[in-house]
Amino acid sequence: MMWLNRLAALLFGLLSVGLVRDFLDKHTIIVLDKDTDIEMEEDEGMEDIINLRPENYDHAMDLRGAPTHVCPCGCNIFNVKVIFDDYEIGTYFLDMECAQCGSLATAPTPVDREGLDN
Ligand SMILES: [Zn+2]
Repeated sequence: MMWLNRLAALLFGLLSVGLVRDFLDKHTIIVLDKDTDIEMEEDEGMEDIINLRPENYDHAMDLRGAPTHVCPCGCNIFNVKVIFDDYEIGTYFLDMECAQCGSLATAPTPVDREGLDN
């Protein structure tokens, strides 16, 4: 009976080591002093869309000319000025600004698509 208890303890130990190793692979443990103030974000959801603009324009470029759907920085969200007509976008200005880096670019239009078909 003694060897059965030792075998069970060994298996439990190996299983525990495996679980701890798996837990440490997936998580990071941070040790903090109790006096350290940590500001936790209350809302981890998406920020207000009105704040979706570059923090600075250090990497902004003027890319206006050829219409594009994606900025060279990889972002495909642009700040564009529009005019609404009957609950739809009636007109939009062709100059647009990348929401991530602030580069200026030219908005694509249906006419540009027709130009590619020919
Ligand atoms: Zn960009």
